[in-house]
Order: sequence, then structure tokens, then C-alpha cells
Amino acid sequence: MQKDLISIIVPCYNEEEAIPLFYQEINKVISKMEKVNFELIFINDGSSDNTLNLLRSLASTDKKVRYISFSRNFGKEAGIYAGLKESKGDFVTLMDVDLQDPPTLLEEMYTILKNEDYDCIATRSISRHGYSFLRKLFTKMYYKIINKISKTPIVDGARDFRLMTRQMVDSILELSEYNRFSKGIFSWVGYNTKWLTYENQERVAGTTKWNFFKLFAYSLESIVGFSTVPLSFSALIGLLFCLISFIMIIVIIIRTLIFGDPVAGWPSLVCIIFLVSGIQLFCIGILGEYLAKTYLETKKRPIYIIKETEKDLKKSNK
Ligand code: UDP
Ligand code: MG
Repeated sequence: MQKDLISIIVPCYNEEEAIPLFYQEINKVISKMEKVNFELIFINDGSSDNTLNLLRSLASTDKKVRYISFSRNFGKEAGIYAGLKESKGDFVTLMDVDLQDPPTLLEEMYTILKNEDYDCIATRSISRHGYSFLRKLFTKMYYKIINKISKTPIVDGARDFRLMTRQMVDSILELSEYNRFSKGIFSWVGYNTKWLTYENQERVAGTTKWNFFKLFAYSLESIVGFSTVPLSFSALIGLLFCLISFIMIIVIIIRTLIFGDPVAGWPSLVCIIFLVSGIQLFCIGILGEYLAKTYLETKKRPIYIIKETEKDLKKSNK
């Protein structure tokens, strides 16, 4: 019987410190799983450090190592998409290079996927230690809001670390949108998913590529990507304000008829003008977010550009 092939996709952005440690750990797991073949696909997401050279040397000494190097930094989402597209495995897994996704789980994930009726074994981290108070608060609020307003469930604490069947990967690749939010896309395509949980791990080396504002922007992007509720919300505010002003007009007419028309209420008028114009701009802003996304989608730009792969390495060696 032919052995299964597992593709391991590892996005890397300035990870020269973490790559050797990751390579060592993953090799331990690979040597334990003798019944499976592996391909390791590293994505160099426009790193400015020694990442690419490291990947070149790994690929030239180890046959199972492949790499895709982008022409610039396109973001982790683009890296994931490129990896999925280039993968040839019967099963595909995504892993961070910083060992925050424990590679040792892979064997268990593969066994479950082979023996039980699942299409995907996904992971979520249950603890958030190491996060600041503010980040914990915002994360909690974010999951509450997005799950209320999006029809696609977004699991709290879900990580990108997961093992999927080829069938599921092919379905994901059919969603070729430019603004990618993988957690939503994985959920949107459906299939049977089993969730494994583990404690949040510390990064082995290097630093996180996310800061608070980047995460905030990412969360807004995911809301725009997976829900149109903000649009209905702005329409609702508009309607509500029409209703209020209608009632106010009637009240003022009656008051004037009864008490005459003393000129008063200038300050309150200014406040109302400010409030209403603020809300109008806010709603136009929401509209703008959707329009901007639509604009980017209609341009149909490629999600990533490959500058070099391990195949180029082989050519230049000849
Ligand atoms: N990453 C990437 N491109 C980016 C940012 C990050 O490929 O623009 C990779 C990074 O090298 C790592 C993974 O995505 O393997 C997760 O990044 P990070 O550890 O910084 O995120 P965190 O775990 O803190 O959420
Ligand atoms: Mg990390």
C-alpha cells in the first residue's frame, strides 16, 4: 500500500532564530511517524533577515524540504493560501514556526483523522496567559460580537494549526478571495471538525509580528469579511433617527401652538447637529469599509507573488 503524504505548511516572516529549533522538533515527530511520507513547505513571506538563506540550505540538504519565497511581505494569510495551493499531500497541516503549535500533536491528529469520521482536526488554545489585560478583554469582546453578527461560527481561541484532508483543502482553495480571513474560511467550507485543546505556549525565539493595532485592524477586517450586519446596523440607526426627529417635530409644533415661539434652544440645536452629522459620518465610514473591500476584490490582484522556490535552487546548482 502506498504511504500517505502529509504536507506541513510553515509561514515564516523574519524567523531566522526559530527555524532551526522548529526543524529539529518537527524532525523528531517525522521520524516517529514511519508509516507516513512528509513534505515540509516553508513560506518565506518577504523576510529581511537570514530566513531565505536558511531555507535554501535546508532544501539543498533535505529532500522533503520545499520553500516558496515571496517577492515581498504579503502577510500570513497569503502564506497559508500559497502553501495550500502548492501542497501535494493527502493530508495538509498548517503550523507556526515559533513552536506555539506543538508539532508533537501531529501524530495524534493523524491517528484520529485516519480512524474516525472527521475531515479536519483543529486546535484551540484554552488559556491566554502572557496576554495583557486589555488584549484579553478585546479578544473576548471580539469573539462575542463576531459570533453574534456572523452566520459563520468563529471558534474562540481557534488557531490556524490543523490537519485537513485533501478534499477540504481543495474546497478552501476554491475561495480565492483577496481579503482572506482563514479562521472564517475554514469554518465556512464546513466538513466535520474535531477540536483538540491545549495550553497557550510561549514563543521559542524571535518576537511576535502582531501588535495591538494590527490585531484590531485584523478583527475589523474579519467582521467586514464575514458579516454584513454593520451595514444593516447603519440603516437601522438612520431609521431610528428619522423616527425620533418625527416625534420631536410633532412635539415642537404642539408646544409652539400652546406656548407661542420664544427663541430658545440654540445650544441644544448645535449638539443635535453635531450628533447627527457624527452618526452620518460613522455610517458612511462603515459603507466605505465595504466599498474598499469590494474595490480590492474587483481588481483581482494576485494574493501573492512567488520570487523563488526550491526548484530554482536545483536549476542554479546544475
Ligand atoms: N507570519 C508570516 N507573515 C507575517 C506575519 C507572520 O508568515 O506577515 C508568520 C510567522 O513567521 C509565524 C506565524 O505567521 O510563523 C505566526 O506569527 P506570530 O507568531 O508573529 O503571531 P502570534 O503567534 O503572535 O499570533
Ligand atoms: Mg506565534
